[in-house]
Amino acid sequence: MIANKTMEAELLKERPEEWRALAKESITRAEELAKHLNISVEEIKEVAGVYPMRISRYYLSLIENENDAIWKQCVPDARELKDDVGVADPLFEEKDSPVEGLTHRYPDRVLLLVSNDCANYCRFCTRKRRIGKPFRKITREQIAECISYIREHSEIRDVLVSGGDPLMLEDSEIEHILKELRSIEHVEIIRIGTRVPCTLPQRITPELCAMLRRYHPLYINVHFNHPKELTPQSKRALELLANAGIPLGNQSVLLRGVNDNPEVMMDLNRKLLKMRVKPYYIYQCDLVRGTEHFRTKVENGIKIIESLRGFTSGLAVPQFVIDAPCGGGKIPISPNYIVKRTKKGIIMRNYENKVFSYPEPEMET
Ligand SMILES: *Cc1c(COP(=O)(O)O)cnc(C)c1O
Ligand code: SF4
Repeated sequence: MIANKTMEAELLKERPEEWRALAKESITRAEELAKHLNISVEEIKEVAGVYPMRISRYYLSLIENENDAIWKQCVPDARELKDDVGVADPLFEEKDSPVEGLTHRYPDRVLLLVSNDCANYCRFCTRKRRIGKPFRKITREQIAECISYIREHSEIRDVLVSGGDPLMLEDSEIEHILKELRSIEHVEIIRIGTRVPCTLPQRITPELCAMLRRYHPLYINVHFNHPKELTPQSKRALELLANAGIPLGNQSVLLRGVNDNPEVMMDLNRKLLKMRVKPYYIYQCDLVRGTEHFRTKVENGIKIIESLRGFTSGLAVPQFVIDAPCGGGKIPISPNYIVKRTKKGIIMRNYENKVFSYPEPEMET
């Protein structure tokens, strides 16, 4: 597998278009996966029949041991079918949707879904209900309707382009969407949410970056969950994006047995910063049907933030959030540093648990 990786990198130097071939070669059949991993074909078939499987050969090559952090994120698991806690659309993304494919929840920004495809189908995905399902394919007409909605709502100043993965579209299709959005005067910033720098870094080509940089101010949020995902290939992809002047943020999902521990998160967030990616959010796992085995206690997320704050660069500390069920939106969950509040001031503790007080100004009443 290691030999494969270098070969891929060599191929790409000569043929930047290679990413399409790599995407096509992704593993989608249980029999094929069984050639690489010690799995039960029957079990995988049963699960993938409900929630499709797709694993890029690149991502597969990162698996080192059975059931390690990479394996858990991409290999179907029988527990996905035994979950009766979660629901299909816990965040009411479809209920809060004025036009199919667009969610308008906050006053000044919207979520625009432009693709239903990803390089990998993550087993913990919040949009598990639709990812990889052909009947949920997003059409050009649908996207055009969403863009009309944005055009008609002058309060929208920030458009978050997501999916699936928007970067699974052809460069020309991505450019069409960006051009349309940029033609709307009230749209100030555009953001793209993508996982390909992690799951198919070969997709980030100099050509793509040359196109993207014409649509600034453009932000990209990537999605890395574990330091093992930060390979030389991902580093190269992130470098190309950052060199195109695109500010990069990272969103992680807190996953049981993958990254629900302070050491792993410290390592991940420091390594991201080295690659010019600012850790943005850590999400508590949503109540999505089929992902119960990934959920971990909220307390673990708080402990992770406490273990970062003060102990490493403030830049490496993301905001821990719970996306509230039923469309409540993202709610920040933070460790409590206030020990006591009095009329005179506040008593607080620092990261080392030392107590300090800060007097309030004396106000005229
Ligand atoms: C996450 C999200 C946003 C963006 O939220 P920020 O906190 O601004 O990053 C916008 N709309 C929807 C529906 C979202 O889920
Ligand atoms: S890349 Fe994102 S949208 Fe696609 S399956 Fe993974 S988490 Fe879901």
